[in-house]
Amino acid sequence: MANASPLTSTMRNIPSVDELVRSDAGRRITVEAGHSRAIRLARRTLATIRLDIAENNERDLSKELILDAAVNQMVEMHRSEERASLQFVINCTGVIIHTNLGRAVLSAHARQAISDEGATFCTLEYDLETGKRGRRASHCEDLVTELTGAEAALVVNNCAAAAFFVLSVFAEGREVVISRGELVEIGGDFRVPDVLTQSGATLREVGTTNRTKLEDYEAALDNGARVILRVHPSNYRIIGFTAAPSLSDLATLARKHDVVLYEDIGSGALIDLSSYGLKDEPVVAASIAAGVDLITFSGDKLVGGPQAGIIAGGRELVDRLRRHPLYRVLRPGKLVYSALEATLESYRRGTITDVPVIAMLALNKETIRERAASFRSRFESGYSGLLEIELVDGTSAVGGGAAPGSALDTVLLALSHPEKPAESIEISLRNSNPPVISRIENNKVLLDLRTVDPAQEPILLDILRSIG
Ligand SMILES: *Cc1c(COP(=O)(O)O)cnc(C)c1O
Repeated sequence: MANASPLTSTMRNIPSVDELVRSDAGRRITVEAGHSRAIRLARRTLATIRLDIAENNERDLSKELILDAAVNQMVEMHRSEERASLQFVINCTGVIIHTNLGRAVLSAHARQAISDEGATFCTLEYDLETGKRGRRASHCEDLVTELTGAEAALVVNNCAAAAFFVLSVFAEGREVVISRGELVEIGGDFRVPDVLTQSGATLREVGTTNRTKLEDYEAALDNGARVILRVHPSNYRIIGFTAAPSLSDLATLARKHDVVLYEDIGSGALIDLSSYGLKDEPVVAASIAAGVDLITFSGDKLVGGPQAGIIAGGRELVDRLRRHPLYRVLRPGKLVYSALEATLESYRRGTITDVPVIAMLALNKETIRERAASFRSRFESGYSGLLEIELVDGTSAVGGGAAPGSALDTVLLALSHPEKPAESIEISLRNSNPPVISRIENNKVLLDLRTVDPAQEPILLDILRSIG
């Protein structure tokens, strides 16, 4: 305690909350984030400064020095809180449905619909002809039935909710028969066996991991199973010596035993995407045509709309879901319906490349090469820094648990710098404004323009130039 007095005098040099908030940086933060946020940041900053001074037994720090340090710390704290908020990023990973980056990018029509109908009063549950309450988002459901051939449809929050809902209503307290090859985890913690258990159903596994026969299902039905569950393994494939009964054979079997055939298809392509290189993605309408009673799929995977779980199938079954109290718990809001409706309208019109997921899938390698080459020459013209861009062949991924076997050919921008390792370039990109998300392979930072909107290229160009 001999030195107590100089330390106290340093403590006396610590600025007040008010001084900090009235500094230039404090005023800027107040304008950006509000007075109470600025005060909170100032308090937290001063608390850490006090602790620092005491712990390191700092003496002889002038008022100016401490104020400077405090301002810097407050600005840094503010920045890191800002970074934690939802932020627009430029996705250069080439993963089209990137789960960590928010999956599908919405079409211009969907964005417009969110602001035109989703954000205001709208006819969500209102029938303009009768002036009375109408079926919730009926047009959206009608679009689903039109595009899939199903009799009826219902929309809930996401596909996991849809699967849980269907199983809770039709399989609670009953046995559900499923092939061992389909007891998969889809990522994002969606595990088929867990969803089954949670919904109160009893799992009845049949067959083996690679081969399941119609007779395996039939034996389970003879023993009392009431639902046949078929799951599209999504991001997982078993190849080689495999066998599974066709959907139409399962449908015949289900009818014979008067049980429900339910397919959780997940990614759910609304159209055949094989011409874009997606060879084995099941199409919703094909499953309906094959005779499934109910099918569930995501709104924000291959459909390319907002996060939603879409249920389609027989009218009587869908109506039972609609009347069930759980529907009230799981139904989405008007933001989702407006965006989903606008996305589905693009399919109905046949202008499917309006939908960014489809447009990104449809880009072929040559088009991407041309864009990459033009990007590189724009970058190089008048640039005197050291960053180098090469074009290299590579692959993009569909992502979102779709088409694990289909890699899409692309041309990548490979960045290198004589003085900066790839990791440091990747970090600079990630910390830029807006953040640019890239990947590293063989000591090169790789950017895939497939997932970059051409309108974002000038911003990307400026960010790359600023790396030096
Ligand atoms: C992705 C997926 C889900 C989960 O869908 P969310 O929309 O993420 O809830 C469920 N089942 C299958 C087969 C999937 O591929």
